[in-house]
Amino acid sequence: MALLVQKFGGTSLANAEKIHRAARRAIRAKLEGRKLVLVVSAMGHATDELITLAKAISSDPPKRELDMLLTTGEQVSIALMAMAIDAAGHEAISLTGAQLGLVTDSSHTRARIQTISRERIDRELANGKIVIIAGFQGIDPGGEITTLGRGASDTTAAALAAVLGADVCEIYTDVDGVYTADPRIVPKARKIEEISYDMMLEMAAAGAGVMHSRAIEFAKKFGVPLHVRSSMTDSKGTMIVAETAGMEAIAVQGVALKEDLAMVSLIAVPNKPGVAARIFAEVARHNIIVDDIVQNIYDGGSHANLSFSTSAGEARETRHVCERLATTLGIGGVEIDEGVSKVSAVGIGMRTHTGVAAAMFEALSHAEINIENISTSEIVISCIVRREDGPRALRCIHDAFKLDEVAAGK
Ligand code: ADP
Ligand code: ASP
Ligand code: MG
Repeated sequence: MALLVQKFGGTSLANAEKIHRAARRAIRAKLEGRKLVLVVSAMGHATDELITLAKAISSDPPKRELDMLLTTGEQVSIALMAMAIDAAGHEAISLTGAQLGLVTDSSHTRARIQTISRERIDRELANGKIVIIAGFQGIDPGGEITTLGRGASDTTAAALAAVLGADVCEIYTDVDGVYTADPRIVPKARKIEEISYDMMLEMAAAGAGVMHSRAIEFAKKFGVPLHVRSSMTDSKGTMIVAETAGMEAIAVQGVALKEDLAMVSLIAVPNKPGVAARIFAEVARHNIIVDDIVQNIYDGGSHANLSFSTSAGEARETRHVCERLATTLGIGGVEIDEGVSKVSAVGIGMRTHTGVAAAMFEALSHAEINIENISTSEIVISCIVRREDGPRALRCIHDAFKLDEVAAGK
C-alpha cells in the first residue's frame, strides 16, 4: 500500500477550524487507500510566543530548557489533530519525537537527526491508524529533548518520508507553492511549477523560508519528491525533484533575502599559517553557523581583516568566542554589525551563463543600494546590504532578471 507523508505548517493549523480542515484532508487521503503519516508544527505563531515567554524570564535562557519549552508547541497540535480525526470517526494516534524514537545529536536548539526508528510507526499503521508525529523535535542518546532549528518540521517530514519510503512528501503551507521570490516582499513573484533539489536547497539557504534546507537535503539524498502546496486549496503546488534537462536554460530562477544576519569582523588578524584554521575551528566548536567569509590582506601582508556573516541570533555568543580568540591570537579587535541582510540571486543556469553578477550589481547601483560584501558560488551570487535596504534590493533584482515574465524553473 502506498505511503504518504503530509506535513502541516503552523499557519495551516492556526485555529480549530484549520485543524479540522487539515484532518479532513488527511482522512480523504487515507480513504483513497494510502497509509498516512502526518507531521505537524506548532499552531500559528505558538513557537514565537513561547520564545517571547522565555525571554520575559531570562535574556539568555539555557538551551536545554528552551528546547523543553518549545517542543510543547508541537505536542499541543499533535494531540488536537488526533482529536479532530477521532471526532470525524477515524482512528489516529499522536507521537512525540521521543515516543517515536527520533534520535538526534545533543546540540540543543539546532540538533541534527541521527536515526529514526520506524518500528512504532509501522505497528500503528498496521493497525490502520493515521500516525501523527510532532515535527521539529527529537531526543538525544542521553534522553534529553532537542529541537532541530526553526522551521524544521519540514525536516522531520522529509526524513520520515525517506525512512518510510514514502512516494511523496506533501508540505502544506500558506502559499500555493515555491515562488521566484517571497511573495510577501515581491508581489510580482511567480509560482514555479517544478524546481530541482539543488536550486531549492540554495534558495532555502539564501533565506527562502518556505522550506527548511535540511529537509531538501534528506529528500535529495533519498530521492523523495517534495510537493509544496496550499492547505486551503486542492490545486497542484510546486514539485521539488531531481534536476531534469532544460532546467539550465535560465540563468537566474529565483531571488531570496536573509534578514536576520550579523556581520562579524576581526580586525588586524596576524596573517600567519594556521590562524584562520584556529579561528574557524573554535567558531565551529561552538556550533556557530558561518555564512560567508571574506579576508583582505594589508600592511604588506603581515595582517588581514577577516569578516564573516552569521545569524543575528548567534551574535552574542559569537562575540564571546571571538573576543576570547582575539586575546589568545593577538587579533586587534572584534566588531559586530547586526544591521545587515543578504540578498541572493540563484539559478542552476548560472553554471553556463555569464554577466549575471554584473547585472545584479548594476540593478543595486541603479537603486542606489550600497553593497557591503559580495560572495559567489557556482549557482548563487549574494550581496550584503543594510537591513533597511533588503526588501527593496530583492524587488529590484527580481525586476532586473524579469522573473515575473520568464518561465522560471523550467
Ligand atoms: P509554515 O508555517 O507552513 O511552515 P512558513 O512561514 O515556514 O510556513 O513558510 C511559508 C512562507 O514562506 C510564505 O508565507 C512566504 O512568505 C515565505 N516564503 C519565502 N520565500 C518564499 C518563496 N520563494 N516562495 C514561497 N514562499 C516563500
Ligand atoms: N514550530 C517550529 C517553528 O516555528 C517548527 C516549524 O514550524 O517547522 O520553528
Ligand atoms: Mg515552515
